[in-house]
Amino acid sequence: MSEPLRRDSSNRILAALTDEDYARLAPYLERVSLDSGLTLHQIERPVDYIYFPETMLVSLLNMMSDGSTIEVGIVGKDGIAGISPLLGSERALMQTIVQIPGEALRVRTPLLREEFNRGGELQAVLLRYTRSLMAQVAQRAVCNSLHTIEQRLARWLLMSRALADSDELPLTQEFIAHMLGTRRAGISQAASMLQDAGLISYTRGHINILEPEELERAACECYQVVKNQSESMSKEVVGGA
Ligand SMILES: [Zn+2]
Repeated sequence: MSEPLRRDSSNRILAALTDEDYARLAPYLERVSLDSGLTLHQIERPVDYIYFPETMLVSLLNMMSDGSTIEVGIVGKDGIAGISPLLGSERALMQTIVQIPGEALRVRTPLLREEFNRGGELQAVLLRYTRSLMAQVAQRAVCNSLHTIEQRLARWLLMSRALADSDELPLTQEFIAHMLGTRRAGISQAASMLQDAGLISYTRGHINILEPEELERAACECYQVVKNQSESMSKEVVGGA
């Protein structure tokens, strides 16, 4: 008789694996604690490690030719960071940086790719996640071009809150401006409006979400769309559909 497996990770991809798939992967998982702003993957550079975030949040960034970046997605405990090697590309398609510091489990890319290529539950779970990530990125494209900075800031704070499981987010306005591809003055104005309305409070380096339900009303529809997609994927994973 083998011992029961210890599933001590909050990452939902790992939690959705069969005991057999998890047991094969477990010896190669390494827990790391990563600081805000750290670059995990550079565009067009090899992906050495794939990360399963736990408390850490990661921004997926697209880069313009002048070096400016804009966020096209967020990954937390719902997914993995560094998916391109599983989809046939040796190199990173997007830049990934740590948005909120915290813990993750990481595995060397060739090991996870080998497991992925066996087929089975790991592949099925990761393909479902990829579908949900594509939906998030597609929604973000619409959001970035159609919705106001206030709406986008509210949406972004709600998404980060849901993935970080916390009303207090260690984020500077400069960092948020960078993520949303806008000028810092625009973010300051939007944050002031949300603070004046009593929905958030901010001090240097920290944003507190005071009224999440009110903040949902201030956000564009994108928050609810992405949330629904992510929840329906989680149900599929749990239900094994
Ligand atoms: Zn939007």
